[in-house]
Amino acid sequence: MEGIARFACERADVFCLADGGADFGAQVFPGVDPETLALRLAAAGDSTIRTAFNVFLIRQGDALTLVDTGYGRLAGDKGGLLPARLAALGVAPGDIGTLVFTHLHGDHCGGALVGDAPAFPAARVLMHAAELAHWQGRDDPGGRVIAAHAGRIATVAEGDAVAPGVTVWELPGHTPGHIGLRIGAGLVIVGDIFHSAALQLPAPETATIYDVAPELATRTRKAALAEIAARDLVFTGGHAVDPLKFARLRADGEGYRAVAA
Ligand SMILES: [Zn+2]
Repeated sequence: MEGIARFACERADVFCLADGGADFGAQVFPGVDPETLALRLAAAGDSTIRTAFNVFLIRQGDALTLVDTGYGRLAGDKGGLLPARLAALGVAPGDIGTLVFTHLHGDHCGGALVGDAPAFPAARVLMHAAELAHWQGRDDPGGRVIAAHAGRIATVAEGDAVAPGVTVWELPGHTPGHIGLRIGAGLVIVGDIFHSAALQLPAPETATIYDVAPELATRTRKAALAEIAARDLVFTGGHAVDPLKFARLRADGEGYRAVAA
């Protein structure tokens, strides 16, 4: 289905839903010179720095867990497709029982509100305590999402289960409480440890202007990618693009290349 990729593992059906997409500008990756950028894009078969704004739906029987919410209406036509993606799967907003945030940047939490009201009215909301502390009280998308869900937010930390067989993977640096999820033994959602597979997988030291703590984010990226490669895990991320929405990693020189799972 358009904008929907699916991976079935032993614990769940996992859907990667594109809330939208765009091209990043080169300034997002300040450490990459123009020549290197062109080479890495060409190696990936791309001519622009493509990105998607992804949301994940974890389906376990009737239990539905949503991971992030996309941009919603925050960025014009770059986002806002999540409700249609869910409808295409027969899912109504009120069916979502748990909403997990990898972090509270606008492209991940903007779709959590319709006006000032929660878009997923029945969901309990989970995020890392450091993420809650970082955004609470701010006049920005993250702060507004926290305020709108007052009394419904619980915090989670490394190893906590957000659904059966789905546990928190702390991946700090992109934001203070940035998390991924481990789903069963073989699948991981890595949040925003990378924004462009084409530019960052071949050279994991490549940081972005969106990383709140770039050095920590880079250490986290390197360790996570090394584990994914060593254990031959299937991974997906907040900015994974087709045809690598679900992929595995192969060591390649100083970094990695992704192969479709
Ligand atoms: Zn993001």
